[in-house]
Amino acid sequence: MNQTDLICPICSQTLSLRIAKGRKSNKPFIMLKCAADPRHFRAFVGDRTYITQVLDQLEAKTKPDKTSQP
Ligand SMILES: [Zn+2]
Repeated sequence: MNQTDLICPICSQTLSLRIAKGRKSNKPFIMLKCAADPRHFRAFVGDRTYITQVLDQLEAKTKPDKTSQP
């Protein structure tokens, strides 16, 4: 499953997704930006449910899972 289906309205590249943390609040948020040129498109997601979901997905991806190894 793709993390995001969002594409840049300028160049139609898939937007890159990053987890960032607020400097003051220290709360995680999601930053979306065009992979080709961040000036094309940049967006921030502050919805906690979505952020938790994405974080879980990233963790599942990076965590070595012995059971699912071929
Ligand atoms: Zn672009």
